[in-house]
Amino acid sequence: LVSRQSRQADTVIPLGDVAVGGGRPFVVAGPCSVESYAQVRAVAAALKNAGVSVMRGGAFKPRTSPYEFQGLGIEGLRILKEVADEFGLKTISEIVDPAHLELACDYVDVIQIGARNMHNFELLKAAGRVGKPILLKRGLSATIDEFLHAAEYVVSSGNGDVMLIERGIRTYEKATRNTLDISAVPILKQESHLPVLVDVTHSTGRKSIMAPCAKAALAAGADGVMVEVHPEPAKALSDAAQQLDIPEFHRFYEELLGSGLLA
Ligand code: PEP
Ligand code: MN
Repeated sequence: LVSRQSRQADTVIPLGDVAVGGGRPFVVAGPCSVESYAQVRAVAAALKNAGVSVMRGGAFKPRTSPYEFQGLGIEGLRILKEVADEFGLKTISEIVDPAHLELACDYVDVIQIGARNMHNFELLKAAGRVGKPILLKRGLSATIDEFLHAAEYVVSSGNGDVMLIERGIRTYEKATRNTLDISAVPILKQESHLPVLVDVTHSTGRKSIMAPCAKAALAAGADGVMVEVHPEPAKALSDAAQQLDIPEFHRFYEELLGSGLLA
């Protein structure tokens, strides 16, 4: 169902003033984790100011260690919604448990399935039964074929509104957090009709190369770019080393606008 053979026309997913996959790429930005009302509000104000209308923020955090911050859970979703409503933004947040999917629909506009859960087939099937678009991340070591099959689980369960997001894969290279597989973008666009995004934060883990990698993604045909932004990255409860602060985000976004690749 997700292949170009089964459907030639691009899937276009409306998200407020953005038509995801409609030929005009967008940026989704926001903190790694929702930490507080004030933190999310500071980011939302910056996004609104820049003209970005889609905000991300994790409430359920699948952390490597069980001793790390696990997210605010439903309280995090409440904060995200309250702030998004105030600023007129659309939201994306990760859900890790099928039992939370229905409730999440009351709070967020797009449900993210994280890299660690790309192979969680029960979660994928449950995501196929909800009435919200799904942002599906590529697994840490997933092939493109496995990635497309994961999307097939969601679509074949009833939800055709799936956005794919390349977020870097594991390789021997240590210069970046993961290796951004830029070739996945045109391959996914050729082989599937689903929108394709690129996460420049988790793929690179290096602030100094996020703008060039975002431009490469857009030049390769990506429908959107995700980047993490935090008002005080040094104090962030997750991904402190790689979230842009607000002035850095403005520079990042200006650079993309200046490239003409967002138009
Ligand atoms: C995230 O986007 O919050 C996240 C945890 O990313 P990934 O699943 O790609 O590691
Ligand atoms: Mn993160």
